[in-house]
Amino acid sequence: MANSKFEYVKHFEQPDNLLPNTWVVVRIDGRGFTKFASKYAFEKPNDKRALELMNAAARAVMAELPDITIAYGVSDEYSFVFHKTCSLFERRSSKLVSTIVSTFTAYYVHLWSTYFPDTPISPPLPSFDGRAVCYPTVQNLRDYMSWRQVDCHINNLYNTTFWALIQLGGIDATEAEKTLKGTYSADKNELLFSKFGINYNNEPEMNKKGSVVFRDYELVEPGTHNTTIEADNLAEPVQQSKTQSENERKRRAKARIVVEHLDIIKDDFWDRRPWLLS
Ligand code: ATP
Ligand code: ATP
Ligand code: MG
Ligand code: MG
Ligand code: MG
Ligand code: MG
Ligand code: MG
Repeated sequence: MANSKFEYVKHFEQPDNLLPNTWVVVRIDGRGFTKFASKYAFEKPNDKRALELMNAAARAVMAELPDITIAYGVSDEYSFVFHKTCSLFERRSSKLVSTIVSTFTAYYVHLWSTYFPDTPISPPLPSFDGRAVCYPTVQNLRDYMSWRQVDCHINNLYNTTFWALIQLGGIDATEAEKTLKGTYSADKNELLFSKFGINYNNEPEMNKKGSVVFRDYELVEPGTHNTTIEADNLAEPVQQSKTQSENERKRRAKARIVVEHLDIIKDDFWDRRPWLLS
């Protein structure tokens, strides 16, 4: 029943509920951070303070939204993964994306002075865009995470070599770009080592691997969890086990949120934390 003659406008709203039973990834990215980084003189190619600020904001987002299972960040972007059973905001895309973007941005600005104590932040203030994508299978989700981490690796190797040529080699950006054109990973590793004595393997893990944010929970020894999962699948879903799993879920939601720089492409990370994708 309409309360006023104006209420019909409500029907112009389009539904945007995301496909049920799929993993929802919300990826946010800093708007114009090339300029932002130069305004605040971020160290090139990786300003540690800026990366740690991104990580701290992501941690805060995860603390406020227990439905987020895991997050992965690199440069000015962060991907937040909602569990496939998540029903927050009836899975409405605009609600999920806008809540993540505004919560993240608010904390980024709030925590700025902790990471940049000598540089007050001033307009134009940082902002982030965001999008939500559904992944139907665990394999698709893992491939998404692998895609971002491979991207991190490729960009970081390129940027590390590019900035070494400029900062240590004394050449300009145009020349550095020309030097790197058509080179493979092996060439860049070799160039870094032979010209500048830099072993890429010894670069900080945060720069090479990006940052993974998740709830710290007891690790499972590789090879021990598979039988448990199979047994669970065979068992009848009785009421008690539902309560147990609900309690388990709450216990996990309360666990400490950690930021680590691990390989999320190989199976090991996931095998040891089966609750992330179960
Ligand atoms: P857009 O608005 O399209 O995203 P952008 O300028 O933000 O434009 P990106 O592709 O997102 O472009 O690239 C991020 C930029 O921010 C890069 O130039 C990157 O070097 C810089 N940047 C982000 N984080 C850091 C950091 N921790 N240290 C140094 N530079 C950084
Ligand atoms: P949701 O997350 O679903 O939006 P909500 O609690 O924010 O939940 P709204 O329907 O958005 O619910 O209502 C906004 C609430 O904030 C109302 O309770 C309203 O009275 C309160 N509120 C907003 N602005 C003011 C204000 N300036 N002064 C007093 N109360 C306010
Ligand atoms: Mg962008
Ligand atoms: Mg950006
Ligand atoms: Mg980016
Ligand atoms: Mg309101
Ligand atoms: Mg409201």
